[in-house]
Amino acid sequence: MAFLDRDGTLVEERGYLRSIDDLVLLPRAGAAVRWLNERGVAAVLTTNQSGAARGFYASSHIDALHARLVALLAQEGAHLDDVRVCRHLPPEEGGVVSPFNVSCRCRKPGPGLVEDAVAALDLDLSRAFVVGDKPADVGLGVGLGLPVALVLTGYGKTTARVGASVVVDDVLDAVMWGAA
Ligand SMILES: [Mg+2]
Ligand SMILES: [Zn+2]
Repeated sequence: MAFLDRDGTLVEERGYLRSIDDLVLLPRAGAAVRWLNERGVAAVLTTNQSGAARGFYASSHIDALHARLVALLAQEGAHLDDVRVCRHLPPEEGGVVSPFNVSCRCRKPGPGLVEDAVAALDLDLSRAFVVGDKPADVGLGVGLGLPVALVLTGYGKTTARVGASVVVDDVLDAVMWGAA
């Protein structure tokens, strides 16, 4: 199974997406997810989304963004097997809106999103890998003992690479590496 970050990995990094129209697939993201689908490798979105906790938009807006993501992927013949979102941010980091302004076990690099997906899909982690553009993604994999592909999209060009198993141009190269 592949644990795929959203912003800067599957979609363009544009900061907090206050408008649905701001969610735009990166050029080879659809091909990457379809590549996993065709090989029977579970594609799981694992994303930190603190915009609701910060009061930028309603929690339901995050769901609407993911409905658009699912629709855009479908246009390319691709689908996500699971969508796992951390909506939390502790108060000391700027979370102001209850019930999301709490510390949690699911905010990457914490393991909660992966653990919940593994339980829900009844899959084992032995061939799993993480793809992302930030230290939180690398930390997720390192903490769970999973290989991590750091992509050079999003923040990837300027992110510290310590802990990454491989550095690749984008998410298609990442999944072809991880699920080879
Ligand atoms: Mg990202
Ligand atoms: Zn969380």
